[in-house]
Amino acid sequence: MNPSRRLLLKHLAFRASEISPLDGLVSAPPDGECFIAWPEVADRAKRLASALVELGVQPGNRVATLAFNDHRHIDAYLAVPCLGATLHPINVRWNLDEMASVLEHTRDRIVFVDASLMDRAIALADRCPWIEHLVRMGPAETGDGPSTVRANLSITDHDELLASSPAITEWPDLDEHEIMAMCSTSGTTGVPKTVAYTHRTTCLQTMALGLTDCMRLSGRDTVLAIVPMFHALGWCFPYACGMLGARLVLPHRDLGPNRILDLMVNHEVTTSVAVPTVWNAVLAALDANPGRWNLDRVDRIVSGGAAPTATMIRRFRDEHGVEVIHSWGMTEINPVGTMSPAATTREEAALDPNDQLRHQQVAGRPLPGLKLEIEDEDGQQTPHDGTSTGRLLVSGWWVAQTYAFNHPDGDRFRSDGRLDTGDVASIDDRGRMAIRDRAKDMIKSGGEWISSLALERAIGDFPEVATCAVIARPDDRWGERPIAVVSLAPAASLDLATLQTRLAQAFERWQCPDDLILVDSIPLTSTGKIDKKTLRRQFPS
Ligand code: ADP
Repeated sequence: MNPSRRLLLKHLAFRASEISPLDGLVSAPPDGECFIAWPEVADRAKRLASALVELGVQPGNRVATLAFNDHRHIDAYLAVPCLGATLHPINVRWNLDEMASVLEHTRDRIVFVDASLMDRAIALADRCPWIEHLVRMGPAETGDGPSTVRANLSITDHDELLASSPAITEWPDLDEHEIMAMCSTSGTTGVPKTVAYTHRTTCLQTMALGLTDCMRLSGRDTVLAIVPMFHALGWCFPYACGMLGARLVLPHRDLGPNRILDLMVNHEVTTSVAVPTVWNAVLAALDANPGRWNLDRVDRIVSGGAAPTATMIRRFRDEHGVEVIHSWGMTEINPVGTMSPAATTREEAALDPNDQLRHQQVAGRPLPGLKLEIEDEDGQQTPHDGTSTGRLLVSGWWVAQTYAFNHPDGDRFRSDGRLDTGDVASIDDRGRMAIRDRAKDMIKSGGEWISSLALERAIGDFPEVATCAVIARPDDRWGERPIAVVSLAPAASLDLATLQTRLAQAFERWQCPDDLILVDSIPLTSTGKIDKKTLRRQFPS
């Protein structure tokens, strides 16, 4: 195939520098906020590429990053894959054991490191003797961590590397099936799993983000990229902005709700992407500071990675005029699978807003190129009637065929190309998919299944509740019984009897939690999802 016809990142990610050369990205690292126009973004990537060649990077090598969302991270995001090497963003919130266990497989020789994480990277290099170079992103900080650097580990400065390197003249022509990145799951249900993304899968995913019925991303948008770039390649948003010429705002480390709101208002952000816990915290900050932030410019936000509550979607719409687009995805699928805007079809556009809201609560339709199916325990297809549930299978253009390295869960990839997602879902007669639970989180009581997610959504809608998790407690008689772990809104109170009485309006008595445990805060995973592994350890019986 002629190289110009191949789905390569280089054909897509630099388009902004031609169509929108005056626009670019805003980056807000601790050493100072800066604006970089798209042509300069492209030039920086080319200079970093020649620096990488000087450091001995060959096509197929893996280059890691340990960094937050900022412009220096973008340099690596573009240069490494376009050069033919594999970008490997490491989850900065992992502990050293977790990082080392993944690097044991990926064996990256070079790690680009945010300046604030240098001590951690030096300690990591002590555990991983194959690491030869650390590239510090940002001015050196004085920390109180390890100050001695082992022999054979060199440290260079990212900005100096760029300044001293000429731009490469051309990006190489690669095979579109070449691996361009590797990302790992956050480990919500077990050991992190690493997935390889190719140029082809990433280009197709990035193209899909620009579709009107996906999230209506356009070159007129300003996108605040909250989702960390190490979480499933930042859901490909950095690449989509480079493709369309949308302005990209990169917040770096501080993702507190006040900071997010300040950035949204100061930079006239029109859209953003994050997990529901972030959006709930943003709502709480808006409540606590009436009139401080005006979200008039914000048109829509994407909530993905976990289930949002109906209250969250409704309150953004009614109180702030912001549409919440609900998205489902997973690291194994590059990662976006569905998007659920308020109305996609003519039929939905004619519905009244409350019926539209009902549809927004479900994960929505698969993006073009993907197919969703549900099957029962005997492997039989479950009807698409909106109520029958089954295990969710996904296949299509950007679904991985295997984990990058052996993993006990590897058998979820079937030989016919379908991936068993581990989710339990229903699909209605218009193709709208609703996640009912993660299979591992379903509670089996007296032989009947109880959806922890359905209870969490219902309890999460109580005005007294800030965050809620429902987990199983072992029970001699029933096998398992649900218990609710809840953190309350400021100055609110809630007792078990009230919780059970309210839930009884929508659930059978046997489905309602037997216990209510009030906690100050619910533990979250490194990507901001509820950490049920930790909760089960905290409340074993
Ligand atoms: P981890 O498995 O470590 O959490 P991922 O981020 O890849 O890593 O998680 C993908 C999983 O997250 C999905 O299989 C699903 O269980 C959950 N998920 C993603 N989006 C949603 C959503 N909109 N509603 C409910 N669950 C979701």
